[in-house]
Amino acid sequence: MAESDRVYDDFASIVPDIEGIDLERVWQMVEAEFDLYKERTPKSFAIRQRAGEHMINGVPTTWHSDWRLPYTFYVERAKDAALWDIDGNEYVDFNLGDTPAIFGHSPDNEVTRGIADQLLNRGVTTMAPSEDAVAVGELLTAQYGLPYWYVTLSASDSGRNAINIARSVTGRPKILMFNLAYHGTGDETLCWRPNPDRGITHRWAHFRPGLDADANTKVAEFNDLEQVEEALKDRDVAILMTEPHLTDGGFTYPIEAWHEGLRELCDRYGTLLLVDETHTQTAGPGGLTREWGLRPDFFMSGKCIAAGLPVGVIGMSEDVAKRYESLLNEGDPSAMGGCMGQGTTNTANSLCVKALRLSLEHNFTDETFGKMNGAMDLIERGMNDVIAKHDVPFRTDRIGARMNVAFLPEKAYDAKYALRGIGFGGIHEYWTYYCLNRGVLFIPFFNMIITSPYHTTEHCERVVELWDEVITNLYDR
Ligand code: PMP
Repeated sequence: MAESDRVYDDFASIVPDIEGIDLERVWQMVEAEFDLYKERTPKSFAIRQRAGEHMINGVPTTWHSDWRLPYTFYVERAKDAALWDIDGNEYVDFNLGDTPAIFGHSPDNEVTRGIADQLLNRGVTTMAPSEDAVAVGELLTAQYGLPYWYVTLSASDSGRNAINIARSVTGRPKILMFNLAYHGTGDETLCWRPNPDRGITHRWAHFRPGLDADANTKVAEFNDLEQVEEALKDRDVAILMTEPHLTDGGFTYPIEAWHEGLRELCDRYGTLLLVDETHTQTAGPGGLTREWGLRPDFFMSGKCIAAGLPVGVIGMSEDVAKRYESLLNEGDPSAMGGCMGQGTTNTANSLCVKALRLSLEHNFTDETFGKMNGAMDLIERGMNDVIAKHDVPFRTDRIGARMNVAFLPEKAYDAKYALRGIGFGGIHEYWTYYCLNRGVLFIPFFNMIITSPYHTTEHCERVVELWDEVITNLYDR
């Protein structure tokens, strides 16, 4: 079926139909992997029963159950590129906490030692900035180019705060985002539109009583400048949020001159442009913002930026920062400063800011990224060789130390095509859980692999070996 003829109404329509793969048979293989998982994790099962007495689904945050396993395993410890569960199973970790631990688990280096020193000797939180904060502003500007910075608790928090600031400085209510994009848990950004004819369908927020998606959010298709212009021309959009290319439902690449087009339309209609580098910062120090010469009004990131401590950042152009500063200082109610409107008590505490400083100084270097990229080169080459050997319609896509495995042959410029390439409905699940049961962890809700400076050649060769086995089994060869 041609891609343009497909109707994406629900999650069933994102299952790829691949010649030669019998999905019913594959799903039985997934169930066999679940059985094997249960055999390997009796202690996690037992503790899960206990944890269920006081925690929802036995975990402290819903995100911990996103493994979609019969029950989540519990971690005994993690070090460098390895993780051990409480049953003693050892995993090579290419999940890395879904990015925050990308520079390694508890690495024995100046970053960890500096954080430990802060914790032991210098205090965690004081309600006043340390000198590290000054250095952080300078380091972030050198790294990403934007001149002003604001620190938050996470990437989600950065999204929420950037929306607040944009609304305040523009006096406009709405945001514009792209279909199938993800920018964290802010209500405004939990919007997907599986079928454009049906208007916005909130993936989650729509179902939360009291939220009116259409009042706050417009959704356009990525790579469609006409839709962007249509959304902006009423001049009610404060901020347009985008990743350099979309990464959260497979990778969707920008068409040529896409970012120039967005910049121009935002300028024309007075909307502020935000680039979310939470995932794409794996491209290297400076992210794709620097590599591609992007010129956003806002930049946001989080996850690994402070070596895994909970920190998000927002970069701002001089114009935005100065306008917001004036509103704050004039006491404009829309600016809402202090600990009740924008900042919160744990935000930008001395420990987190120390970690941010040390991470920017020591992790975001060509040397560290060189090691991460070296490991990913091995995986990319090996997996592509296996794809060629089996002659199957799969592909790998890469942003530095992050790789996406797509169970479709073409590079995606359409976000719905990219989403289908994840292979939900059996293929994705089989690949993920087959590897997990054999000691290799990937990010479990899509096919992402991330490399740290601690992944060895053997670790990478193991991924390639498993990939070969998975393809052989999927096709029953
Ligand atoms: N932006 C993007 C592009 C993301 O992928 C994510 C999380 N996967 C976020 C923002 C939110 O990050 P966090 O969950 O750390 O708040």
